[in-house]
Amino acid sequence: MRALFLYDVLKDAGLDVIAVQGWQARGGELEDVAAILWHHDAMANTGDMPSLPALVAGRKTPTPVPGPLAQLGLGRSGKWYVIAAGKANHAGAGLWRGVNRSNRTIGIEAANNGVDEPWPDRQVDSYVHGTAAILKHVRLSADAVCGHKEWAIPKGRKIDPRPLDMAEMRQRVHWAMNAPDWKVKPMWDPAPPIAAGCIAPKGGAWLVSPDGAVFTIEPAPYLGGAYEKPYFRGRKAARIDPAGEGYVITATSGETYHYPEA
Ligand SMILES: [Zn+2]
Repeated sequence: MRALFLYDVLKDAGLDVIAVQGWQARGGELEDVAAILWHHDAMANTGDMPSLPALVAGRKTPTPVPGPLAQLGLGRSGKWYVIAAGKANHAGAGLWRGVNRSNRTIGIEAANNGVDEPWPDRQVDSYVHGTAAILKHVRLSADAVCGHKEWAIPKGRKIDPRPLDMAEMRQRVHWAMNAPDWKVKPMWDPAPPIAAGCIAPKGGAWLVSPDGAVFTIEPAPYLGGAYEKPYFRGRKAARIDPAGEGYVITATSGETYHYPEA
């Protein structure tokens, strides 16, 4: 098969998508998609997706590998580049949940130097949402996404995508796939299912669901995403005013947050 759905699925998810000329015919035949691999491209920060030419055409060093080197590129801006609908040379020897053939995988190369470059929230949000959209389309769960570092055999052969915690990313993908309206429209629009709290540090807003579960809105309104923060994972807020909007939240660190702030 060929993953001819990639452009429309990402576009329909409200993401910024570029179709790289010739993408439909690029790459060999894929089998049924069973895993999605996350990578970083290890290229210096010289633009949104400086590795794009190599992802299309292949590379000569350190060992020659013919292109395409990924089905998808993800720029620093969160923009997607659809490179190939067919098989791509991104995976190498590996295994993830019983899948061990790279022609059953879709590879996403994200622009990041892989050394010390921070990942913009906007790029990670887009990674999560685009992956969620593809997984929904091919009817796989969030467990089907893995990091190249988790796939690669022998273990330790790959470090990408450094330093993303793939367990946390799978949780975010799962959450994005299962939000009441998982698409770009904010889930609380037009009828908020959860009450908004107060403005939080870094420009996000706290949200507390009716059963007390705590979420934050990331400062990425174009995605409309609300994500569970690791330090609030599994935490519930206790109301401090049963009739009002006040909450106290205890983070995993033990710190407490009062909203509204006293
Ligand atoms: Zn990789």
